[in-house]
Amino acid sequence: MLLITCPVTRTDELVADRRIRSVTNHPTHLALHVECPACGAVHVYRTGRRWDTARTRTRIADRAAAQSSADAAAARAARVAVPA
Ligand SMILES: [Zn+2]
Repeated sequence: MLLITCPVTRTDELVADRRIRSVTNHPTHLALHVECPACGAVHVYRTGRRWDTARTRTRIADRAAAQSSADAAAARAARVAVPA
């Protein structure tokens, strides 16, 4: 059994193994093609330690970039606020 979140209906669905249409092995992850009981479409779910690590690294990098641009905006705002 698998617990998936349908990207169409946004509901969590418990899926039987027989609904797994194919499993593809990639260097960084496994791709499971699952027939969705909620909407009937086939969704792809990727899983694997290296896939999760890569995604976490990307999220951390995105967060750091967002924080530094927020810091830059705050610094610009502070400069504007200081009377010359
Ligand atoms: Zn679905």
